Parts: sequence; C-alpha cells; structure tokens
Amino acid sequence: MSDTPLPHHSAPLSDLEQRVKSLESLLIEKGLVDPAALDLLVDTYETRVGPRNGASVVARAWTDDDYRQRLLDDATSAILEQGYRGRQGEHMVCVENTPQVHNMVVCTLCSCYPWPVLGLPPNWYKSSEYRARAVSEPRAVLAEFGVELAPEVEVRVWDSTAEIRYMVLPMRPAGTDHLDAGQLAELVSRDSMIGVALAQESSAA
Ligand code: FE
Repeated sequence: MSDTPLPHHSAPLSDLEQRVKSLESLLIEKGLVDPAALDLLVDTYETRVGPRNGASVVARAWTDDDYRQRLLDDATSAILEQGYRGRQGEHMVCVENTPQVHNMVVCTLCSCYPWPVLGLPPNWYKSSEYRARAVSEPRAVLAEFGVELAPEVEVRVWDSTAEIRYMVLPMRPAGTDHLDAGQLAELVSRDSMIGVALAQESSAA
C-alpha cells in the first residue's frame, strides 16, 4: 500500500492546496527557494510548533479536572476552548492512559492525524510498517519506542479515520505536583500523545 492518502480517507487537495503545491515546485525549479529551507520549515511544524498545542491541552487536563472531563467527553470542543481548530481536527476523541490501560493511535489506511493539536505526522507514522504492526504487535512496537509496559496493562489501539482523529492523554508523571501548566507542557512530547511514548519524568523533581 502506498503512503498516498486514499481518496475516501482524506479529502482531495483543495484548489488552494494544489496551487501551493504547484507554486512550491515552480519556486524550487527556478532556484528561488531552497528545498532544505522548506524541509526545515516542515520539520518545525512537524516536531515543534504543532505538538506544543497538544501539550498545552494535556497540561491543562492534568491541572484542571473539569477541563480533563470535558476533554474526555467532547475533545473537539475542549480543544477549541484552547483555541485550536482546523482541518483534520473537526472530530477529535481523546483517550486517557491510566495505570490499567495504555492507548496508542494509528491510521491503518493512510496517515489520518490530528493536525490542530499535533501538527504534521512524522514519517514513521505514515510508514506501512507502523500502520500494520501497531495493530498486529503493538507491544513490540512500543518496546522499540522504549515503552515497556507491565503485562497486566491493557493496550488499546485506535484506528484514525477521516471521521475521527484520536489523541492520547498521557499519565501525569509522578513527582510533578510543584510544576505549573507551562512546565508540565514541557514534559509532553508529540510521541506521548500518539501513545508510543510516556510523558517524561520531571528533571526538576
Ligand atoms: Fe487515514
């Protein structure tokens, strides 16, 4: 299966997106834009800007129990409360990790991903290997990401679709009672909200 989003699973490019793509190709072809600079820009959104939104949602859920409940009841609205909305985030579901349950997210058909809270999907998320193995052997995949769960912890794998995008609410690490929401957000990585990592322990704890 190719990594190209399937038509039924991801909306076709809009006119605007097609024009941006064409413009990008043309600018590179004419030597007016450095492809490396574009890559850097994409990387910035993929690993830095985008996931910070999700991290602030998680940090608020950790510090505000009413908000946490709203997030679990209706993630789209709760995320909008924080000001994050947009394409590929219209129907969000937040799944909560607990000592008994660990959640992880995949899109088995293509690369559906909650852009407003996590930015752009990493390449491994789009790979056919992850898409297959997250379902067939999630514990092995988690171990490769460095997550070792106790045998009694149930692993739930959520398959994203064009209709529903999932994000994981990781468990708040122990020893972080003294941290404020901004400091807590620093502990929340992109991968922890996909469910292939845990929130970091606080170095200041
Ligand atoms: Fe998809």
